[in-house]
Amino acid sequence: MLIAVLSDIHGNLEAFKEVLKKVEDLKVETVYCLGDTVGYGPFPNECVDLVREHCTVVLKGNHDSGLVGDTPLDDFNHYGVSAIQWSKGVVTKENCAYLQSLPYSAEPNGLTLVHSSPERPDAWSYILTMRAAQENFAAFKTTLCFIGHTHVPIIIGEDGAINKYKPGARHIINVGSVGQPRDGNPDAAFGLLDTTTGDYSLIRVHYEVQVTARAVRDVGLPEFLAQRLFQGS
Ligand code: ZN
Repeated sequence: MLIAVLSDIHGNLEAFKEVLKKVEDLKVETVYCLGDTVGYGPFPNECVDLVREHCTVVLKGNHDSGLVGDTPLDDFNHYGVSAIQWSKGVVTKENCAYLQSLPYSAEPNGLTLVHSSPERPDAWSYILTMRAAQENFAAFKTTLCFIGHTHVPIIIGEDGAINKYKPGARHIINVGSVGQPRDGNPDAAFGLLDTTTGDYSLIRVHYEVQVTARAVRDVGLPEFLAQRLFQGS
């Protein structure tokens, strides 16, 4: 079975629609979303609607949590706060209640899913060092743990190897970001797992950044949130 793991859509409808087309082309059977469906981008409702339609497991990310009032806004940078405040004004009551209802972690199909880290999924820490990664391997029992949050794809092996995926070995896999990649590549990113062979690959999908950037400006979100999409930063 092919499973797509998406994260950090961040209200970028154009990127998300292209990813969903790719998911269909690849004949993916199951789609999981690791959270941050809203925040930064201009189409929070449309993205929440599509997530609800297409994803069988959806988690709450820090921006979703900030929007529904579970995470204080002083935990976000200036751009994050502006976008959350704007989103609060447009997200429907129903979608707010939906985001509020989402879990911080899930274990479908023998996979661990979290937005930030398996150690404390609701504390929004970043796995940026080998030491942090090692501590986190002790915090989940499955072979694979999928994460998002940094918007930078990486595969960390339990043996410390970076970006050397071996089917059957334990890994923490960051699937990157659909709606705001920060690894220098503006194309949308998501993870693809074949549960039959154990193979994993990162998929990149081109989308019209200009369309999202224009919408960011049209709704009055900060210009920086449009600019960074072109750079993938
Ligand atoms: Zn994010």
